[in-house]
Amino acid sequence: MKHEIDDMNERGLTKQRRAVLEVIRGSHKHMTANDVFEGARAALPGISFATVYNSLRYLKNEGLIGEIQFGMDANRYDRKLSRHDHAICNKCGEIVDLELPIPAGLVKKAAELSRFEAGSVELTLRGLCPACSK
Ligand SMILES: [Zn+2]
Ligand SMILES: [Zn+2]
Repeated sequence: MKHEIDDMNERGLTKQRRAVLEVIRGSHKHMTANDVFEGARAALPGISFATVYNSLRYLKNEGLIGEIQFGMDANRYDRKLSRHDHAICNKCGEIVDLELPIPAGLVKKAAELSRFEAGSVELTLRGLCPACSK
């Protein structure tokens, strides 16, 4: 969907898309579309959920935000664009970024086992966050 020539880069974002991007960049959390909607509404009270949702898709396609899915949960939006992994708390749902060096042979091994041409490997640590493990 590249019909809006003026919106091809970050500077040309509409104010709605800009607001959505700022909500995500302003939070270390990995927000759901609903969370982003609540945040965007604080900045632009008239914004609709559909506009937020379409903006998220647009920003993701333009590579300005990341999108991740954990199992059956709602998709999360991520301000961090470089490759990274996540830890998720089984109790409260907290998600944190994790810089885990991937061992050199892992992607190759995964490719062998699946007979896929490997793109990337993502790891998710599940357990209890510091607050919940007290
Ligand atoms: Zn927790
Ligand atoms: Zn992340």
